Amino acid sequence: MSEDFKNDTEKYYFEEDHYQAPEERNGIHVTDAQQAVRILLQWAGDDPDREGLKDTPDRVVRSYTEFFKGYTVNPAAILNKTFSDVENYKDMVVLRDIRMESYCEHHLVPFIGIAHVGYIPNKRVVGISKLARVVEAYSKRLQIQEALTQQICLCIMTTLEPLGSGVVIEAEHQCMSTRGVHKPGVKMVTSSMMGNFEELEIQRKFLSRISR
Ligand SMILES: [Zn+2]
Repeated sequence: MSEDFKNDTEKYYFEEDHYQAPEERNGIHVTDAQQAVRILLQWAGDDPDREGLKDTPDRVVRSYTEFFKGYTVNPAAILNKTFSDVENYKDMVVLRDIRMESYCEHHLVPFIGIAHVGYIPNKRVVGISKLARVVEAYSKRLQIQEALTQQICLCIMTTLEPLGSGVVIEAEHQCMSTRGVHKPGVKMVTSSMMGNFEELEIQRKFLSRISR
């Protein structure tokens, strides 16, 4: 990973209150992105030049910079710094109730909920905030919940090489509550279990630790 990439990652994490859209992102100039928002405003039936909407294209593009900051982060790199001086710790590590905000790739609206992440270390453990950052790196992209759940689990498996890992996500999808079937309060629950988390006994232990 290049030094630039790392710095970018840090930048997106720490300047949370004032995201600046880069001049160009993935070959698209910022003014073209703003123009696309302007067209949508007009298409919706409003006047993009009226006072209240004047700065909206700029605000939307900056919001999108934040919503989709996960594309600028390499999740595996987050887990690279591990502690190996806890070789005797062989039990399950669980981080539960991690707030998660992601964006439905079908409708571009948020799905919001919580993620629970567990693993059983095999010599290496990682700082707990790092697990939350991996959740964030994958969720701040266009996603479907099933893929998001698996990606987090797979990333932990391949970088930490634990005995096993499990991820459970419970989320409410705004594409179901504010449009389509209009069913608020419905939660989708997905899970991914890899390594020894495929064993029923271990799954039971994990699920009991994340249940209220
Ligand atoms: Zn959707």
